[in-house]
Amino acid sequence: MRDAAWGTPTCMTHPPRTMTDTLKSLSTTLAAGKASSVELCQDYLARIQTHNPGLNAFISVDADKTLAEARAADAQRAEGRGGVLTGVPIAHKDIFCAEGWLTTCGSRILSNFVSPYDAHVIEQFKAAGMPCLGKTNMDEFAMGSSNETSFYGPVRNPWDIERVPGGSSGGSAACVAARLAPAATGTDTGGSIRQPAALCGITGLKPTYGVVSRYGMIAFASSLDQAGPMAQTAEDCGLLLNVMAGFDTRDSTSLERPKEDYTRSLNQPLAGLKIGLPREFFGPGLVGDTAKAVEDAIAQLRKLGAQTVEVGLPNSKLSVAAYYVLAPAEASSNLSRFDGVRYGYRTPEYGDLTDMYEKTRAEGFGSEVKRRIMIGAYVLSHGYYDAYYIQAQKLRRLIANDFAAAFQQCDVILSPTAPTTAFKLGEKTADPVEMYLSDIYTIAVNLAGLPGMSLPCGFDARGLPIGLQLIGNYFDEARILGVAHQYQLAADWHARAPTL
Ligand code: GLN
Repeated sequence: MRDAAWGTPTCMTHPPRTMTDTLKSLSTTLAAGKASSVELCQDYLARIQTHNPGLNAFISVDADKTLAEARAADAQRAEGRGGVLTGVPIAHKDIFCAEGWLTTCGSRILSNFVSPYDAHVIEQFKAAGMPCLGKTNMDEFAMGSSNETSFYGPVRNPWDIERVPGGSSGGSAACVAARLAPAATGTDTGGSIRQPAALCGITGLKPTYGVVSRYGMIAFASSLDQAGPMAQTAEDCGLLLNVMAGFDTRDSTSLERPKEDYTRSLNQPLAGLKIGLPREFFGPGLVGDTAKAVEDAIAQLRKLGAQTVEVGLPNSKLSVAAYYVLAPAEASSNLSRFDGVRYGYRTPEYGDLTDMYEKTRAEGFGSEVKRRIMIGAYVLSHGYYDAYYIQAQKLRRLIANDFAAAFQQCDVILSPTAPTTAFKLGEKTADPVEMYLSDIYTIAVNLAGLPGMSLPCGFDARGLPIGLQLIGNYFDEARILGVAHQYQLAADWHARAPTL
């Protein structure tokens, strides 16, 4: 039997599944006994084997490990101990420490690091019985918007392999879009879940800061980093967030809150919903097919009963500037631990200790990471701290205040996710500022600590996906997921997959 859409051999023991399989449908398939977790994992591993060489979405794949977890999940289900997602596989961004797995964070400096422990997020997915399909490629230390800074080479966008998938969770976005995995984890410091989700035509959510524990997630900018789900649908993202979220004493910024069901508002009609449209995000920068797709999505949401109101985020224009002071400052401190002593790469030849540190870090880090470390050390240094770091912190407060004022007038805020669709590999690598502007619509959300998501809302003339961003007030993940789900019941952009 051959899977018609993929031309790859699939398992003989159950009917061929279509490429539209969501977590929800895979869960039903498993519950009905129509396939085992081992069979599902074998199918996905076969797809990975066929298509990953062209896409480079995975850094590590280990079929034996995956299938061992799948067998355990099948046993759990057979004993009636399974949960909704038991047996459904998932891929994890290579920023999460996973016991026994090579965990590189996309960097040469961790290219020999096999993690001795699991991140909180990995533990949660293991406890839910979801086998790990592999570790996905990413920008080095999550610094980037195109996945071109990875030591393991760029990821290619499955909609057009000459183009980038976005970053930094580009491997996760590409593997879900190409249906090499039904879902993946990502992390978002300035847009790294939402922007690649937009460029690859999938759905991704960055939760409120503190909802998902950062324990075992390799730190970039600790006050901004947040893990979240990437999948085909908002409903699937809700199911995944139910697994990921929760208090963890090992992360001092993890929030102690009652457990909630993030799928609880999926069926809530949109009548009476007030959607805020920030005038700063609908200015002259928003053009062409992206502008048109976002306008059509707004019209669709109005048809479903939502009202729109104009809101202002006057300080959002300063968000990229503030971020590129604060994030490098935190990164320069976080990355000081990579010294060739504790773990990771060490230069083979050196003189004294200082020489060892210098050579290790010179050889172990790529140029974008070095740029961030230098900027960070500079803005934190005596004499510049007040002029840059403190000023940026003040801006951060003003940006958060803007959102607070806007949420007095509306329930959710809507904007495009990214200013353009997927750009060509190499197109922006020579101009870092041009690259940084890819996150113009997403960064303010991290600075404020709010939840935000991206969902597909159309295609441009080249056939490349366009993303719509929904921003919620603090802890309003369920609400934005609900709005996205209602939209996805009315529009089918999320169900389209690239032909490989
Ligand atoms: N593109 C942004 C950066 O390069 C955001 C990355 C992220 O969210 N991890 O820092």
